[in-house]
Amino acid sequence: GIDDNPSMPWFGMDIGGTLCKLVYFEPKDLPKSETTSEVETLRNIRRYLTKNSAYGKTGHRDIHLQMENVTIRGLEGTLHFIRFPTNEMKNFLALAKYKGMAKLVTTVCATGGGAYKFEDDFKREVNMKLAKFDEFDSLLTGLHYIDRHNPTECYYWSNPTEESKCNKVKYDFSSPYPFLIVNIGSGVSVLAVYSATNYKRVSGTSIGGGTFLGLCCLLTGCNSFEEAIELAAEGDNTNVDKLVKDIYGGDYARFGLPGDLVASSFSALCSFGQMNSKDRRNKATRQDLARATLVTITNNIGSIARMCAIQEKIKRVVFVGNFLRVNPIAMKLLAYAMDYWSNGTMKALFLEHEGYFGAVGCLLKYHE
Ligand code: ADP
Repeated sequence: GIDDNPSMPWFGMDIGGTLCKLVYFEPKDLPKSETTSEVETLRNIRRYLTKNSAYGKTGHRDIHLQMENVTIRGLEGTLHFIRFPTNEMKNFLALAKYKGMAKLVTTVCATGGGAYKFEDDFKREVNMKLAKFDEFDSLLTGLHYIDRHNPTECYYWSNPTEESKCNKVKYDFSSPYPFLIVNIGSGVSVLAVYSATNYKRVSGTSIGGGTFLGLCCLLTGCNSFEEAIELAAEGDNTNVDKLVKDIYGGDYARFGLPGDLVASSFSALCSFGQMNSKDRRNKATRQDLARATLVTITNNIGSIARMCAIQEKIKRVVFVGNFLRVNPIAMKLLAYAMDYWSNGTMKALFLEHEGYFGAVGCLLKYHE
């Protein structure tokens, strides 16, 4: 019953290689069983988290993702979605201590590698115990829960082959099985899901969102993911890549390869036999380099996803992870690639709470 609930505040945390995702459940009414001084601290924490949208220099609340009127363990409330860079963990813990967290006897539900890496710091700095959960179990639990509670969670991109007609369209994901999850975080994991509890990890690659950001910073001197995406949006990868038509003069029709297909990523910059390769390098702007990096990484992930889908005989492929945050270029490219290379038999699906499922899932798993 409600009285057996863990003490407040309720957090779910997914501490990844790049970003820490924090989900906070704000109850409509604070439980009566807490002592007076605890209630005071709880009020302060609730006020701090819900009245601000930025925390310290690098913490952000994604207000557009907030979910009202959800019920967890018999309590009604609101789910808030907060993220900060994992390398700011020391500052985050100092802030939590300053806000009085150490005075509360709390267990925080945590997943991701950081749940292990930072366990001792949580105990020492804010007297918090971590209840650790597996990251893929949490991801699936969170995904199912959010899809059931948000009617506009799942969508696809219509007409991905025609930029001007390409739009977001709601998708009914109520009978989803089987499906593939491609989680694009710092690295990439691919899961084949057959039911709410039956799944396996079928593949992965170290060439993921972290690779995009690292290479993009190196090539363009940019300093953030947002800046990398803005640069990419203004760039043209065909100044950097070699296309099929650069090699064939047109389509390679016999094997169905269109002339505009990238034949070799970044190759226009290094045709050593060619007189103009230095000119090509000088002509490539930071924007072009950012775009080519984004296209290279995204197409590689799309290609792995497609091979996994074929091998597992699965038609629906759900792409998640924060690499897709503010990144319609990558989403449309994935949608296009899945559609085109499967002759329209596979579908790329996307979810609004893209990077937060692990954090939601482990919050729900506590005292499940
Ligand atoms: P992880 O759990 O490995 O940290 P995420 O799903 O949180 O994975 O995704 C991390 C990736 O998301 C980064 O590698 C980067 O490509 C992208 N990303 C999106 N927003 C940001 C941001 N504000 N700061 C850093 N990386 C971001």
